[in-house]
Amino acid sequence: MTEYAAPRGTRDVLPSETPRWQYLESRFRGICALYGFGEIRTPTFEHTELFTRNLGETTDVVAKEMYTFESRSGRSLTLRPEGTAPTVRAYVQHNLGASLPVNKVYYVARIFRYERPQAGRYREHTQFGVEAFGSLDPALDAEVISFAARFFSAVGVEDFGLRLNTIGCPNCRPAHRQALVEFVGDKLSDLCAICADRFQRNPLRMLDCKEERCKAVLASAPMMVDYLCEECSEHFARVQSYLGEMGIAFTLDPKLVRGFDYYTKTAFEFVSGELGAQNAIGGGGRYDNLVEEIGGQPTPAIGFGLGLDRLILALDAMGVELSCEASGTVFVAGLGEAGHEAAVKVTFDLRGRGVSADMDYTGRSLKAQMKVADKLGARYVVLLGEDEIARGVATVRDMRTSEQESVPLSELAARLASA
Ligand SMILES: [Zn+2]
Ligand SMILES: [Zn+2]
Repeated sequence: MTEYAAPRGTRDVLPSETPRWQYLESRFRGICALYGFGEIRTPTFEHTELFTRNLGETTDVVAKEMYTFESRSGRSLTLRPEGTAPTVRAYVQHNLGASLPVNKVYYVARIFRYERPQAGRYREHTQFGVEAFGSLDPALDAEVISFAARFFSAVGVEDFGLRLNTIGCPNCRPAHRQALVEFVGDKLSDLCAICADRFQRNPLRMLDCKEERCKAVLASAPMMVDYLCEECSEHFARVQSYLGEMGIAFTLDPKLVRGFDYYTKTAFEFVSGELGAQNAIGGGGRYDNLVEEIGGQPTPAIGFGLGLDRLILALDAMGVELSCEASGTVFVAGLGEAGHEAAVKVTFDLRGRGVSADMDYTGRSLKAQMKVADKLGARYVVLLGEDEIARGVATVRDMRTSEQESVPLSELAARLASA
């Protein structure tokens, strides 16, 4: 006999847990509306080249974490391993830039990566993200960052930190890259194997290595901030000044780099002290050349994304109670055959009036039905026993106060609808 279980690295979110997910999603959508981001929904899979050509061939995601398969026609497809490239692809394909000077979109998407499962990291996870296309204005960077800060505050993450950096642009990055390569030079053998590879392909990413030996070597390495061109330097200064005006505290972190090659200029990350070393709860940055690389008109852009699974883990670690409203449902407890028949009708009528209602279908005792009502978090229980049926009434029990009253069946639905 086969024993079935969800595949490794995936999980089921059960009805007892989904209210928290729904709450976070609704807060996210609410703040998107507040900031003028409209929802975009892109396919779960894309042509593989969208990711291999644009995320950076040497990134872990492209090198070993993608779920890639061949369609029946022999075309290579990949389950989306991140949310930005598909959004840019849709922006270009539908020429959204022609409709508005600045396009602001958000998504709630499942993301797929073949990673080693660990706390808060799943092979299929949910990501919230926003992307803003069409302006190089540093005020837009500040807007996206303030959006993220507002979301974290709204859901109860009060002690988050914001790390901020700039990673320059194609004009100023080569000089820094050169300096970094020269700095590492004969110290290359002191670095980890991954950094040895990064040294060849993308030296900037060495700065972000979490290995102690690499941190030691790179402690005094040349930093991008000291190599910025005038445009990048001014842009970064203005982002900081806008954040200051908005009262958003940040820490400059010259070693912060983002995971994909398409990023330019502003890079940022939100961290929570509660998650230990893997403490990032969301991040983002500019990607001013990606739209053009994907085939559109040159269009600067900036985005932010966060993993819902990790956020929930952080909220748990912080002991944040999410204010998920109880459903306020009515449980209709019928006893005996006549009580059961009446319960079917009452339940139907209540729902017809827009009152959430449920009933027993297993012929349990009153005590057992009350237990079920309690588990469901019922606000009221409607009791329909032989005595009630004979008198044409129902006993309505307020589960908070434990008060009971008799209500004529003809008035029941209206009374509960206005309760
Ligand atoms: Zn630059
Ligand atoms: Zn390293």
